[in-house]
Amino acid sequence: SILNTEVVTRLASVGQIAAGVAHEIRNPLTSVQGLLQLLQEEHDFQYWDLIFAELNQAISTIESLLSVSKPSLQTESITDFSLCVELENILSLFQQDTYRIQFKKKWLDKAIKIRGKRSQIKQALFNLIKNACESIEHTGVVTIEHVRVGECVHVVISDTGVGISTTDMRRLGVPFFTTKPEGTGMGLTQVYSALYEHGATIDVKSTPGEGTTFTLALPVSPRHKPDVSGGAEMQPIHLK
Ligand code: ADP
Ligand code: MG
Repeated sequence: SILNTEVVTRLASVGQIAAGVAHEIRNPLTSVQGLLQLLQEEHDFQYWDLIFAELNQAISTIESLLSVSKPSLQTESITDFSLCVELENILSLFQQDTYRIQFKKKWLDKAIKIRGKRSQIKQALFNLIKNACESIEHTGVVTIEHVRVGECVHVVISDTGVGISTTDMRRLGVPFFTTKPEGTGMGLTQVYSALYEHGATIDVKSTPGEGTTFTLALPVSPRHKPDVSGGAEMQPIHLK
């Protein structure tokens, strides 16, 4: 697991700061944005685009911070929900990418149910799939598979993207760590925080230039009765 204590400690402090400060910063930033738009209508200025780009970047960073510390997510109750339904809903949000990315689904046990906080897990799966898509420069493949392993279901999200260097690997999940010009570096922070809350684990393997594989072990609903009609369906997948 890459959920080390350093990341978890940073998460805790980021959560506290975020909850207290993000709101206080977002509100004035949004007012400034509105007032500047009024000014822009009346005055020509060569740097308007730059000003709005910088402001939008700041606002989106604040919003991603708020999304991690959102009280509604923290107080969300635990339910049993269908993993396939969530994954299908998430994939429908990536329709605009299908001209360059081939999505492969290998979902063995379609009836499988997860026990946990649905929105949090959905957000985490979305963040991982989004990163997978963003790692692919032109065209490539994103594979999403899941397989039952004892009391867990492993969700494996792999891409044929740029991969992650050994140095960057150690910084994954650290708040604000990003290698993208427009990135916020909060996606994996949310993923790790959601998984930590569920006592779930995550593992990452990557080869620069070849691609990356994230494997999550999520808790299966104890009420879920495995589909024993096709015994072979329950075998773990062996990745290359
Ligand atoms: P952001 O996507 O805003 O940069 P994230 O927390 O989601 O923030 O990801 C942090 C960094 O981790 C990314 O900028 C990227 O360098 C790296 N990363 C995450 N997922 C992948 C992936 N599937 N392939 C390559 N790099 C990745
Ligand atoms: Mg991201």
